[in-house]
Amino acid sequence: MKNYIYNFSAGPSMLPIEVMNKAHQEFKNWCNLGVSVLEISHRSEEFLHLIKNSKKHLRNLLKIPENYKILFFQGGARGQFSAIPMNLTKKKNFTDYICSGHWSNQAAIEAQKYCCPNFINVVSKINNKKIVLPMNKWKINNQSDYIHYCPNETIEGLAIYEEPNFKDKNIIGDFSSTLLSRKINIKKYSLIYASAQKNIGTSGITIVIIKKKLIKKSNFLVPSILDYKIALKNNSLFNTPVNFSWYLSSLVFKWLKKIGGIEEIEKINIKKSKILYKFIDKSKLYRNKIHKNNRSCMNVIFTLKNEKLNNIFLHESRLHGLYALKNHKIAGGMRASIYNAMPIEGVKKLINFMLLFEKKYF
Ligand SMILES: *Cc1c(COP(=O)(O)O)cnc(C)c1O
Repeated sequence: MKNYIYNFSAGPSMLPIEVMNKAHQEFKNWCNLGVSVLEISHRSEEFLHLIKNSKKHLRNLLKIPENYKILFFQGGARGQFSAIPMNLTKKKNFTDYICSGHWSNQAAIEAQKYCCPNFINVVSKINNKKIVLPMNKWKINNQSDYIHYCPNETIEGLAIYEEPNFKDKNIIGDFSSTLLSRKINIKKYSLIYASAQKNIGTSGITIVIIKKKLIKKSNFLVPSILDYKIALKNNSLFNTPVNFSWYLSSLVFKWLKKIGGIEEIEKINIKKSKILYKFIDKSKLYRNKIHKNNRSCMNVIFTLKNEKLNNIFLHESRLHGLYALKNHKIAGGMRASIYNAMPIEGVKKLINFMLLFEKKYF
């Protein structure tokens, strides 16, 4: 497509063009009501139908077993950083927080307000490349109420693909930047959560998939809007939900189903990240310092050997129709977020540009 801008933003991030077109087309007149989905009651027949269907589609896509509930919240992943300890543990109890990067650390820091998190570092280095220790080397504590970890560190571009297999432990995963990108075995987890603005839709809605038997009366004075029991009892409608974000997510679920579900998108995601890492590894200018076992398929980070070229790289990439390649300020360098919505053509265009840039300046 000529003049098309490929958006590599880490979040809020690009949406599938088909979803954008659909939302555009029915923006002012949803379900033939003559009004917008933004303007109607969350308790209207049409919106309740959307809620029901969105749960059904998500359940099918991820093969969520019947003994798990799907809850929707506001407040993003950070809201869940507080909600999780408040709902699932007690003030003096131990919890295990696996630290593999910025977001898992932030979750542990927040948990300190409510319980006694053990900060467990699992990242080491081999040949100057970051690698995550295998799970059987994680220093888990016997008495902890749960283990929290982040399978995709959005800023570091570091992923954990190993499936958790801890006996009699509640495993909690922050899937904010990877939910719906690959198959996961829900049964291995007690709770999975994700804010929507990375790989699902737009910011606002937050998804929690939780084993039903974990939803019980909390030991804290939990704000009602973060209380799992209240959310379940009220069909996630205790307070007014983010209509538009919920609606967009529902369109994304349908889009995913249409293109072949998680299996299909996983293949595409692997292919996209593979060609990009392969190019980076072969080049002399670009570098990625993550061991191949732990490279993220969603957020591909790289640095330029000559850092003086950073600003020129960002400027020229923009002129080439490649948007938002700058990584988070705490990490520096570049990051190409290539979530589900990014077509392979976008990645190829990026590689093409990187190659030309290297030839020109290095
Ligand atoms: C973006 C992100 C967060 C923070 O999400 P908010 O919705 O802004 O609270 C937390 N964890 C991960 C892995 C993320 O990518």
